[in-house]
Amino acid sequence: MGVPSDYASEGDMQVLRGLRSKGKAWIVGGWVRESLSGQPETDMDIATTLLPNEVKQLFPLSLMYGAEYGTVVVRLEGQEKNWEVTTLRSEGGYGDGRRPDNVEFGDNIKQDLSRRDFTINAMAYDSNWEPIDPFGGVADLENGILRSVGDAGERLSEDGLRVMRAYRFLASEKVKSMDSELRDAVRENISMLSQVSKERIGYELMRTLASPNASVALSFMHNDGVIGEILPELQVDSNRLLCNDYVVNLAIMCGGDSRSGGNLSGMLRESLKLSKDDLREISFLHDSRDAPLPSKISEMRVFRAALPELRQNRFILYSEGLGRDVDLLKRSLSELAPLRSGNSPIVDGNTLSRFTGLEPGPRMGRLKGMLHRIQVENDLIDKDEVLDLLEELDWKNSDHTGWPSLSWP
Ligand code: ATP
Ligand code: MG
Repeated sequence: MGVPSDYASEGDMQVLRGLRSKGKAWIVGGWVRESLSGQPETDMDIATTLLPNEVKQLFPLSLMYGAEYGTVVVRLEGQEKNWEVTTLRSEGGYGDGRRPDNVEFGDNIKQDLSRRDFTINAMAYDSNWEPIDPFGGVADLENGILRSVGDAGERLSEDGLRVMRAYRFLASEKVKSMDSELRDAVRENISMLSQVSKERIGYELMRTLASPNASVALSFMHNDGVIGEILPELQVDSNRLLCNDYVVNLAIMCGGDSRSGGNLSGMLRESLKLSKDDLREISFLHDSRDAPLPSKISEMRVFRAALPELRQNRFILYSEGLGRDVDLLKRSLSELAPLRSGNSPIVDGNTLSRFTGLEPGPRMGRLKGMLHRIQVENDLIDKDEVLDLLEELDWKNSDHTGWPSLSWP
């Protein structure tokens, strides 16, 4: 394993050097935590003695939307990463359960670390890469224990978001359990969640559901009443097998809910403010919860041609999570040859119009879709083969709204 300084990128060093040219700066947060067991995957958070506008002067691309509370998001030209740079604090009380009433900036890193949530998150590196660990975060991390900085009851009652964060870290690979004071304090402060924005709750829940020990954390959240608090209307199943895709996991835990996919995702949109893409996926999965698994070769061809790959994989993980046996489907799909003429229709609208005399419109569109489906089911490669189908199909008289198309389920 390397030393922490090996893990810092050129961009990280550029930001640290810039800040240190005018003041002091320490690496804090998740990057320190993760650096103790290898290359961090998370962005680097930094604490500094500089004020937000001084940070902005050094890094003109910085975003200032948290500046009132001392946080600036530093960006560098041409870099994907962000750096959350926060002015050292020694702040007042938390009247609203979420934001400090009055932020006072300070100059002492230990004091700044003392207002952080958990010991494993209250460590820093100084400019010589010396670790600063006033609350025993290194030892807690080694033992896999999540512990509050200071009195757990007090710290949890200051800020409802810490309830969600506690379960998020419980779901991480390194943490095995909460210490008993923290666990009691978390349970006593569940109602504080009503003071946290739905976006923040949604964000932390998604992070939890994307973590290696999501199943464990979810069953604690369910038993402790967190799920009941944040998703009051939901029939939740917390004993299912989860994967590391939060969209799939959320759909799995809602698998017993009797609503339609559209209604379920509407409720999740209100409660967790998820993105449109995520909601669309959950709605699809929920609506396919009782769909028979594709088993015939023609069904598998349709499944694969109709769904984007991500959705196919999600459906398989989802079905597995609901306890269905997907081994045969996985094996059959891996052995299924690609369609010989690809996924697109081989007969275009103009040709079809010439053959049938149909004008462009819904009937013509549905006919094209039906032929496309049959082409895929049978892996046809020849235009004439597709056009011959017109002889057998009652495309002149039957109701076109009932015609099959290339879709799944
Ligand atoms: P990640 O890898 O997800 O970024 P993180 O621990 O860095 O994990 P952040 O949300 O980036 O989490 O927060 C950075 C640091 O700020 C945390 O490590 C913690 O020290 C502190 N922190 C964040 N949220 C809170 C909070 N609600 N109360 C107290 N301290 C907090
Ligand atoms: Mg962070």
